[in-house]
Amino acid sequence: MRVENIIIRNFRNIEILNQEIFPGLNIFIGENAQGKTNILEALYLLASGTSFRTNIDFQLLKFDESAFYIKARYSYNDRAINAELKYDLKRKKNVFINSKRTGQSNIDRLRVVLFTPDDLYLIKGSPSKRRNFIDFSLKQISQEYRYLIENYSKIIKKRNLLLKKEQTNTKSFKLVEEIFIETSARIILDRINLVNILDETTNAIFKEINYSPSKLKIRYALSFPVDSGKINLDILKNCLFKHIKNNSDNEKTRKKSLVGPHLDDINIYQDEKLARQYASQGQQRTIAVSLKLAEIIAFKKIKNYYPVFLLDEVLAELDESKKIKLLNYLLGADFQSFLTAVKIPGIDTTNAARFLVENGCLKRKEQT
Ligand code: ATP
Ligand code: MG
Repeated sequence: MRVENIIIRNFRNIEILNQEIFPGLNIFIGENAQGKTNILEALYLLASGTSFRTNIDFQLLKFDESAFYIKARYSYNDRAINAELKYDLKRKKNVFINSKRTGQSNIDRLRVVLFTPDDLYLIKGSPSKRRNFIDFSLKQISQEYRYLIENYSKIIKKRNLLLKKEQTNTKSFKLVEEIFIETSARIILDRINLVNILDETTNAIFKEINYSPSKLKIRYALSFPVDSGKINLDILKNCLFKHIKNNSDNEKTRKKSLVGPHLDDINIYQDEKLARQYASQGQQRTIAVSLKLAEIIAFKKIKNYYPVFLLDEVLAELDESKKIKLLNYLLGADFQSFLTAVKIPGIDTTNAARFLVENGCLKRKEQT
């Protein structure tokens, strides 16, 4: 996907912005609090329907205004798309693709991979951060997965409610159990497939953006044992079924589900050591960026086109040589990137577009 033009109106501190975008690396430079992250937030909102900074849409509205508007023109696989997001106090949020109102499931929605400074928590934070990373990615890749996850959250609520009410000997619990096992196994299998692709691709990327010869390994960590070297849908279903039977007393006593994809994790190892326990701040940042880059490559492998990469303040905290390596990687990449920075190292960026962000306004900077 290549974004060709963006229009933003009355969004955060941006009153009006209408900008042609460069097909490769776009660098947004500016002092603090000028609107750099706001630009990425607008694109992310257009893609995913929610912000990465707030769940309250009203906060996105420019102070004292009553409506905001985001539009992007982009192309992929020879398709030309106009996506618009309109928000106003009465009608709330609505998304339009080529002038038709649409939902999240539209295949022509903008696809993005986002890196923010909070992604340090992807490595050292709770398992839910890593599950969300995988789920966000899979939901953009597969409509079926989106339904699976939505169904799962309903079914787990039902299951927990029946456990709480001590109604485990009922017909309805048996039915819920069957759907729970089927949905869980499908989710886990999709996640494992993606984790395997990430595992295959991350190392090559890590080598390119990191200067020390370190090895990364990514493994899906199940919340129940699988007594087989091979994994497929039936094996997962059987093992989950067995585990539930063996631990039913425990679940009855605790009155909640103690197993399932909502409790799984993704283990990331650097040189055979768990990164969340051993990696330094800079290492965690480099691993997180490698994972996001691997997500982009995985997306392309599965969908045959690239999503757009949004990188907020990725250079901060990286040492000079890593900053240069990462910028050079993005300069040479086949996908499009939007990168914000207060300052960038003095390297040749003639193959990128530089913009100056000042008080919510954007100005293309000539190369110096
Ligand atoms: P930094 O380098 O510190 O990350 P930034 O350029 O990324 O800065 P943004 O996060 O994009 O800055 O925010 C820019 C400004 O937008 C801030 O001054 C903030 O107060 C302002 N802002 C946030 N929400 C709104 C809003 N709803 N209406 C008007 N201004 C807002
Ligand atoms: Mg910012």
